[in-house]
Amino acid sequence: MSKYLIAGNWKMNTNLDEAKSITDRLHSYLDYDSEVELLICPPFTHLSFLSELIDLSRISLGAQNVHSEKNGAYTGEISIDMLLSVGCEYVIIGHSERRSIFGEDDKFINKKVVNSLNAGLRVILCIGETLEQREKGETFEILENQLEKGLIGVEKIINLKIAYEPVWAIGTGKTANKEQISETHEFISKFLIKRFGENNIKILYGGSMNAENAEEILSIKNVNGGLIGGASLKPDSFLSIYNTAIKLC
Ligand code: PEP
Repeated sequence: MSKYLIAGNWKMNTNLDEAKSITDRLHSYLDYDSEVELLICPPFTHLSFLSELIDLSRISLGAQNVHSEKNGAYTGEISIDMLLSVGCEYVIIGHSERRSIFGEDDKFINKKVVNSLNAGLRVILCIGETLEQREKGETFEILENQLEKGLIGVEKIINLKIAYEPVWAIGTGKTANKEQISETHEFISKFLIKRFGENNIKILYGGSMNAENAEEILSIKNVNGGLIGGASLKPDSFLSIYNTAIKLC
């Protein structure tokens, strides 16, 4: 098992040419023997093309979202089977932008998590508090609630990862400080040990991670990787984070 997972969430960015150029750059650089797994999560439209382009043993491929149902009248949605059929291995579920902009609730998120894991997809379940919740002292309560509800019915944890993403740090240039990351990751780790009896589940940090702050963040105990938005669109920055992880192995 790799020691770190460095995951890029491209969000609604890049056309196919741009996606190809970022991916080519990553692909040509990657270290074969590294203990660090590099994952890209491009828009849905690029998945099929990129899975043909890359060697999936060097770069992993993920989607940014999925629908919980198998198929049917869900205009505009993408199913688990569709993702698997184009070589997609991972899916991000419950990103705060899905929760806040598209109104996804814990019940829907939980259904996606359970069905994706059962189908063999690797799931990155995102959790995190808003600034208001943090200022009211509710951070741990919110995280516990999102974990409990998001993981109802989950038994097989082999393909599960958690991303702690304080909402106030996503795309804002603000990162949580060392102490905040350390105490939240410890809390999540303890929750997972209690819930599953063991914790081999990677816990990623997400929120304005970049080439400059990666070393400090990835050195913190219980931080097993990063979910990276903005900096994952700049191959040199993304590779610098990847190299930092290699250095820390
Ligand atoms: C994200 O999209 O999950 C994220 C952490 O974005 P950024 O790195 O841009 O804050």
